[in-house]
Amino acid sequence: MPATDGENIASAVALVKHYRQGEAHVRALDGVTVGFTRARFTAVSGPSGSGKSTLMHCLAGLDSATSGQVVLDGTELTGLSDRALTRVRRDKVGFLFQSFNLLPQLSALENIALPVTMAGRRLDHDLLDHLVGVLGIGDRLAHRPGELSGGQQQRVALARALVARPAVIFADEPTGNLDSRSGTEVLDLLRRSVRDLGQTVVMVTHDPHAAAYADRVVVLADGRIVNDVDTASGADVTRAVQVVGRAG
Ligand code: ADP
Repeated sequence: MPATDGENIASAVALVKHYRQGEAHVRALDGVTVGFTRARFTAVSGPSGSGKSTLMHCLAGLDSATSGQVVLDGTELTGLSDRALTRVRRDKVGFLFQSFNLLPQLSALENIALPVTMAGRRLDHDLLDHLVGVLGIGDRLAHRPGELSGGQQQRVALARALVARPAVIFADEPTGNLDSRSGTEVLDLLRRSVRDLGQTVVMVTHDPHAAAYADRVVVLADGRIVNDVDTASGADVTRAVQVVGRAG
């Protein structure tokens, strides 16, 4: 079982999140304690409604928990103001979304550079050149998102996340809008970013095939962790995710 220790770049302790739905309370997270190790690729999986997105949103400072603690790169998020959370997201977090979230009126290159320049930081041109080469988007930089395929758009979004050197990249179903070949390419690139750049990646996915690309798969059901699998151990990820899926 991976430990919650000093190597963790992000961690949650006894995290609870309630939503009110009319008269009812939904316990989206029901006491989650988990740590994410630096320079590792972790998938958070489980059936729809198990709390994956809620956990990611709380870890990334996009939402606040009802109780419990979140620490991201040494900063305790619990109790921070919206303004402080915005700063944490800007300085420490990279995002990869199912829908790419590129600005349609900007070129690929402008999209990649935007978060860094908006934060008032200097763009690392050597890193940018390296990423553009590895991601194979060199001949697409002047194009707008509408002129790119889904796979190309997600690679641009990945360059945007990586060039800022965030403490953690949170990826929410990053292959959900891609055909299987483009999806596999993006998963492979995420894995390479962990191996070659030491990037920490936490990916939410309901898809066992995508989860199997990670070093570790944390499985949620009904707002609790029900499995925590090291993929290098040869564990059957599909089974680890799907058995829970049927039970949940
Ligand atoms: P997953 O990402 O695994 O599909 P979610 O984290 O989106 O799961 O949702 C977990 C539970 O919380 C579900 O029962 C969902 O209906 C509920 N939920 C999520 N967001 C909200 C919200 N904004 N308001 C009310 N209930 C919500």
